[in-house]
Amino acid sequence: MPTPTIEKLLILQDRDQKRLAQEGLLRTIPRDVAAIEQKIAGEQTALEAARAGLQQLELKKKALESEIAAANEQMGRYRSQQLQVRKNDEYQALGVEIAHSQTAIGVLEEKELEVMYAIDEARRNIAAAGVELKRNVGGHEARIRLLRERESVLQGELEAAQALVATAREGVDETVQRLYDRLISKPGFPAVVAVREGKCGGCHLKISSNVGSESRKADKVVTCDQCGRIVYWES
Ligand SMILES: [Zn+2]
Repeated sequence: MPTPTIEKLLILQDRDQKRLAQEGLLRTIPRDVAAIEQKIAGEQTALEAARAGLQQLELKKKALESEIAAANEQMGRYRSQQLQVRKNDEYQALGVEIAHSQTAIGVLEEKELEVMYAIDEARRNIAAAGVELKRNVGGHEARIRLLRERESVLQGELEAAQALVATAREGVDETVQRLYDRLISKPGFPAVVAVREGKCGGCHLKISSNVGSESRKADKVVTCDQCGRIVYWES
């Protein structure tokens, strides 16, 4: 049978494990909140990038418009020059220039049309993305609120678990508490384990006969020779 000290340590260990689990759950919440906030920021950045893209397209359209206007003016000048020249070859040369200008204007106008289509598409995409973002942000924010609520519930539970741990420590010798604390500070590492078939329940290695006989003595706290855990004889 476990000695009275071991019994107290087993209760303490049980409560500590619950406390540690509670702390683990609480630690996940800020991480989850940060992940959602990052998602929102990412979606906002994407929308801003789309808006910047639209601005670029609008600038391109303006540049094309002034190029077309300049080309039209140039063509107008050729036309009035053509009215004034008397020589046939000069007239024909200006005719070639006018034809070149017309071709160039045609190419520019085609480009302008493409940019206009792109602007329309970008505007539609931005509007859709804006609606989507609004909807997503609403969902994300609701999720964050839920996480915050859960956090405060978990915080309350943790405080209750901590109070139970403090109660369980009462009456346990301070030296034993220090030894126990050193062991329990490692995650997933039970500090107090039973000896079964001469083996430590923690590291599963055979304990020495000395530890074996010591651990059977009344109210003695003995540790495994191999892993240092507190061991006790179950039966
Ligand atoms: Zn061991």
